[in-house]
Amino acid sequence: MRLVFLGPPGVGKGTQAAKLSKEYGVPHIATGDILRAAMARKTPVGLEAKSYIDSGKLVPDDVIINIIRERLGEPDTKKGYILDGFPRTIKQGEALSKMLDQNREKIDRVIYFYLNEDELVKRIAGRWSCPACQKVYHTINNPPKKEGICECGTALVQRKDDRPETVKERLAVYRNETSPLIQYYEGQGLLSKVEADGTVDEVSEKVENAFQKSSS
Ligand SMILES: [Zn+2]
Repeated sequence: MRLVFLGPPGVGKGTQAAKLSKEYGVPHIATGDILRAAMARKTPVGLEAKSYIDSGKLVPDDVIINIIRERLGEPDTKKGYILDGFPRTIKQGEALSKMLDQNREKIDRVIYFYLNEDELVKRIAGRWSCPACQKVYHTINNPPKKEGICECGTALVQRKDDRPETVKERLAVYRNETSPLIQYYEGQGLLSKVEADGTVDEVSEKVENAFQKSSS
């Protein structure tokens, strides 16, 4: 099962990917997580990526493609995976197709999550995460038991790119970069659109319907 999850920041595709990854026993490959790990370790790629992310820009395609190629070469991807945050541009999409072709593999389904912009801003600006265990909370939808503190005891932080002033910029960048990609997959007959309103379970039911219909 090889799935690609597309959608703007704040749409909840990471939550969905994590849930389905557990249910189906395939890794959830989130570009953001891989990049943040590289930034935390201050690797050359990490430092390069950080300068772009801090200013609300996308990390260049070549940097991302190399990171993903490395990840998809690891043995846990044999049964499939859920890609979350990759590809984000046509160039990345074409690079992915090439990687898959070389192994005679293909994407089973591309799920595009969408939601109106006001709701997206609200969702992102309420997001806080734990720098120690990476658990993500939300001030409205998923508040920590103790305000500002993770269940592991660490003080929560708001990622710089989740602050309201950066969010609008991220959404604009996303729209420009990703709209052509949506058409790209639609043209290949791989795209399913899922409106990401409702509860986590409601949305994941829509997602499962979308890719089960396509694989039967
Ligand atoms: Zn924690």
